[in-house]
Formats: sequence, structure tokens, C-alpha cells
Amino acid sequence: MEGKTHAIGGICLGVAAQSYYITDKLDAPELIVFYGACLFGGLLPDICHPGSWTGRRARALSKGISRFFGHRTITHSILFIILIYWLTSTFTIQYDHLIQTGLLVGIVSHIVLDAMTVRGIQLFYPIPLRVRFPLYLKTASKGEGFITSCLIILTIIMLYNQVMIS
Ligand SMILES: [Zn+2]
Repeated sequence: MEGKTHAIGGICLGVAAQSYYITDKLDAPELIVFYGACLFGGLLPDICHPGSWTGRRARALSKGISRFFGHRTITHSILFIILIYWLTSTFTIQYDHLIQTGLLVGIVSHIVLDAMTVRGIQLFYPIPLRVRFPLYLKTASKGEGFITSCLIILTIIMLYNQVMIS
């Protein structure tokens, strides 16, 4: 999937997490931190791709990961989720819990979306098993455009519900 789809996917799952998981009312700085983390988490797994938004911003690291692990392997796996969970658990900064939740939400949304593509993902890396949904599509196709539109509509509906409830 393209970067913009992952960005919208991260925000969409973030709104769902805020509605159904966090449920506490977040103030403005907390909202910025949480959704910033969702957005970043949504783009982070493509660090394995030097041409991606994240890859272009950390070129050396991206090239290293791409060469050593390949595309859509470790950074699109359960192992990566555990690694990021463990790493962010060591944070002792303000908003650490929101950063952790946001990053994990974004990464999960990315992995789910990429599992909808022809190529699939290596969810159980290092086991070299490609995982993909029975219904899949090509990256940057009309199908992806449709998924993006659905995500935007879903996000708007959930935001509307949040405003109506509060
Ligand atoms: Zn990806």
C-alpha cells in the first residue's frame, strides 16, 4: 500500500482505539501526541523500503534493513510489534503510554493493510511464510483507492460518534 493509505489507516485505527480502548478524554497536547504516534507508527514498517516516506528520512538505516532482511519481513511481523512494545516500555517520558499505544496502533494498521496486497507480508518472520487475506489488491490500484475512501468515511463516522457521545 502507498504511504497515504497507511497514514489514513493509522489515523483511522487511532480513532477506533481512542473511542473503544483509551476512552479517557484526551486534552489537546495528548491528542497531538497520540495521533502523531499513530501516523508515525502507520508509516514506520516501510523503513525496510528505501523509497518509502520513512525510508527516505532514515536512508542509511533503511538501506541496511532492506539489504539484511528484505522488504516486508521483520518490520511487518509480530516480532516487530513485540520489539516496539518492549522498546517503548523502557520510555520514562511524559505521554510515554500514549506514544506506545499510538505507535502500536499505527504499526498494526500498516500490517493489516499490507496483508491485503498481492505480495502479502511475512507476519511470522523469521518463519518465511507469506500471509495475505483471501481478498487482495495491487498497490496503487483502483482497489487501493477504494480502501482509502472507505477508511476516510469510517474515520469520519467514528469522529462524528465521538463528538455526539461527549
Ligand atoms: Zn509496508
